[in-house]
Order: sequence, then C-alpha cells, then structure tokens
Amino acid sequence: MKAIVLISGGLDSILAAKIIKNQGIKVIPLKFNIPFYQINIDKYCGKNLFDFVKANLGEELKIADIDKEFLGLLLEPRHGFGTHMNPCIDCKILMFTKAKALMPKLGAQFIVTGEVLGQRPMSQHKRALCVIEEQSGLKGLLLRPLSAKNLNPTIPENRGWVNRDNLLCISGRSRRDQIKLARDLSISGYPNASGGCLLTDRQFSLRLNDLIRHRELNLRNIELLKFGRHFRIGPQTKLIVGRNEKENRYLEEKVKSGDLLFTPEEKVAGPTCLGVGVFDKEKITLSSRIACSYSDLCAGELRVAYRIIPDRKNKYLNASLVKKDSLAGLLV
Ligand code: SF4
Repeated sequence: MKAIVLISGGLDSILAAKIIKNQGIKVIPLKFNIPFYQINIDKYCGKNLFDFVKANLGEELKIADIDKEFLGLLLEPRHGFGTHMNPCIDCKILMFTKAKALMPKLGAQFIVTGEVLGQRPMSQHKRALCVIEEQSGLKGLLLRPLSAKNLNPTIPENRGWVNRDNLLCISGRSRRDQIKLARDLSISGYPNASGGCLLTDRQFSLRLNDLIRHRELNLRNIELLKFGRHFRIGPQTKLIVGRNEKENRYLEEKVKSGDLLFTPEEKVAGPTCLGVGVFDKEKITLSSRIACSYSDLCAGELRVAYRIIPDRKNKYLNASLVKKDSLAGLLV
C-alpha cells in the first residue's frame, strides 16, 4: 500500500506522513513548486527541505512544478482570495488534482495532507475541506491524519488500509499538539512558523497586484518582486533598487537584454538599480536620481553610470538627490 503525502515545507505535513508511515504504508513525499515560496535554508536548522524530509521520513522528496498553471489562478480564482493575494482553495484544488493524476504512475492508492481543521480561516474550515476534496476529484481518497477523527471516515479507513484509532482529532490554530507530537515522533529540525508562501504577505501582495494591473504577470517579474525596493515610474516601467550587497549582486545577475542597470560612481557607496520596461530620457534621469537618493551622498550631485543590456559600455549622468518623501507615491 502506498500514499502520496503532499509536503508543504512546514511541520504538519511531515507529522501526517509519519503517522501514516508508522501504520506500515509506504509514503511518497511530493511537493508542488509555485513561484511564491520563500525557502530559507536556515529554517531547517541548516538543512534544506530535501534533507529534512529524508532525515525524518527516510524517503526522497519529489518535486513537481505547477508555476504556469498557478499564474492563471491569480487572474481569476474561482473561490476568491484570502486576506491578501492567496487563492488558497483554488491552489489546493490545483495541487490535489495534479497529485491525483500522479497516483497511477506512482502506484499510490490515496493522498495524505497535513491539513488541520480550523487552522486557517479560508481553506481549512469544514466546508472548504469538503469543497477541496470534491473539486479535486478525490472524494474519499484524501486523508488528513491530524484531523481525521473530526472528519468523515475515508476509503483508506473504511477499508482497513489505515487504522482510524491511530489517527488524530487536532483542530484550531494552536500548534501545541503538533509540537508535542513532533517530540513523541522524534521529528527534529522543523521550521518554527508554517507557511512561507509570499501570497499571504501584505507587502508582497501589493507588489503582485501592481504587476497584474499593469499586465506584467510572468515568472521573471514575480522572481524580481522578492528583492529590493520597487518603484513604478511609468505604466510600462519599473526601477528596482537593491537594499544591500546581496540584493545588488542578485539584480546584476538577473539582468536581461533591454534592461537598464544603474550604479552610482564608485567613490560613493550606493545601490545597484535594475530598470525594467520602457525607458526614455526622462525616466533615465529619474532612475539616476533615485539611485543617487539611496546612495551615501548627503547633498549635491552624483555621477551615475548606466548601461542598456547587453551594452558593456557605461553612459554617465549627473544626478541630484530626490527627497525620499516625494518618492513615496512611486514605491510599490
Ligand atoms: S498559502 Fe499559498 S501555497 Fe498555501 S494554499 Fe494558500 S496560496 Fe497555496
């Protein structure tokens, strides 16, 4: 008997997997990649998610990309958004439908998730759990071990593949039960907070909304949203300002043909700024002034170098500071 366990990256899905594994079922850990996860390697005590899963389940984590399909959800999610730009119900229906399609190939008889009844307001109340199960075509084949005793018995329980007596009845937002269970099951190195999905972050959602309104939703632009300060300086033009050395390097690595790269002259420390979209003389001047404003210059003017990728040769502009207050309206 085999079950696909959907791994979120948090503690709950590992607990669910372990409970099922302890019933003698072979678990197949599977994670769906969407472009909105903020995976921080430190979250797993220096290990990455692959190591964390292997260490605790003894199985290799499988990854499946659903990037492109996910973007479609953001434009018109059938079940709407949560507090921010998180279309959680549609997201789960998409992931579970994909998991169902993989069942024959992976030889799995059912699907397991770490969902907990009442843990999240949008997607984990009883009605939402039923809608997700039905609309992903998994009626009776979706087992949520952490809350199973609060829910109707599933096919794996009814047929005796798993023992319902050994499943749990956790509900609500507290993580106390899960932390105790992790201790009992000797699971270590799990992240403190669940989630990591940037769609639940207010600031990120505002930036994303700006991309959608300007019809600029694509994987590259989403990746760029994760770094720097973002200025909307025209309907088709953005300037991204690095906030530290790491972001400056990242922006330099991410340039594409047609982008502009701005850097204040070497004598004064300043940010690398990536210009994306349509630039005229006026926007080049404004971008140079913004670059200047985030440099160490206190007053006067600064020579800002810029180049249009793939040109290797810099052009230069003397730019003056702009008051940060007057840039507030451009900041996304
Ligand atoms: S938080 Fe993000 S990854 Fe999780 S269900 Fe919602 S949209 Fe999907």
